Amino acid sequence: MILLRQDPLSGEWVSLNAERQTRPLTQAKACPFCPGDNTEVGHTTFDVAVFDNKFPAFQFPGTAEVVIYSPRHHDDLAYLPTDYAQLVWQVWKERSEALQKRNDVKSVFIFENRGAKVGASIAHPHGQIYAYPYWPPRLAKERAHFESHCPMCLPGEGDGSVLYENRWWRIEVPFAMRMPFQLWLRPVRHIAFLGGLTQEEILSGASLMQDIVRSYDSYFGLRTALVMALYQDIATGSPYHLRWDFLPIDRGQGKIKYLAGSELAMGAFVVDMTPEFVKEELAPLWARIHQEPE
Ligand SMILES: [Zn+2]
Ligand SMILES: [Zn+2]
Repeated sequence: MILLRQDPLSGEWVSLNAERQTRPLTQAKACPFCPGDNTEVGHTTFDVAVFDNKFPAFQFPGTAEVVIYSPRHHDDLAYLPTDYAQLVWQVWKERSEALQKRNDVKSVFIFENRGAKVGASIAHPHGQIYAYPYWPPRLAKERAHFESHCPMCLPGEGDGSVLYENRWWRIEVPFAMRMPFQLWLRPVRHIAFLGGLTQEEILSGASLMQDIVRSYDSYFGLRTALVMALYQDIATGSPYHLRWDFLPIDRGQGKIKYLAGSELAMGAFVVDMTPEFVKEELAPLWARIHQEPE
């Protein structure tokens, strides 16, 4: 039984699953996301696979899908050959377009929980797609700010924190960052959802996404636990401007950013650094990344 409830105090929607299933323990030894007839993927060969999550932590009248980035158990999206990462982007784009056509879907959220610290229970490289029958609270709030003009296209105070920019994408530290070392990867062109991306934008975006995650790994000196989240709006004619948000939890060996009282109870984020600091810290890495021959 899936319950969709609107909080009478805040108006925010939540999904409650009364029949949460957990993966059978017998599967604990074999990876359910590796190729094979008897795994959850159900195919012996594939490059990138998408299927309905059979044991979603979260469920609703929309869908919850799993995207397996590679058949190889020890791969990592950030370190895959770039043409493979481009294929993953192509899949994200196609799923966004397919789910957009459904009447019961209002919002398509693509994300990856990278590392056990942010809840990835299976090591095999994968991400998820949630198709919500409502606008999740954060997106609902943001949409309202795009109605009269695009706050991302207007020149503003945040422009000082651009880490890298090419013809298609800009990487910046958000002006009002909510997490330490948070980064945005957003198209230069004003576009609301992945379905509208050109082939060139996909090629460039896929490799920049890899650069961002690699730059964290190199800066923190570990495989960074992070959430990578796509903010997009599938509504026809939406004035929204899409972006990828990178939210690292790790801040170095043994250092983790926990969400605590202010964030969890009030939704008020407290960050002990500025975007200028993040730019200064990461800029030398970016200079190095883009000196390397293509
Ligand atoms: Zn596996
Ligand atoms: Zn814009």
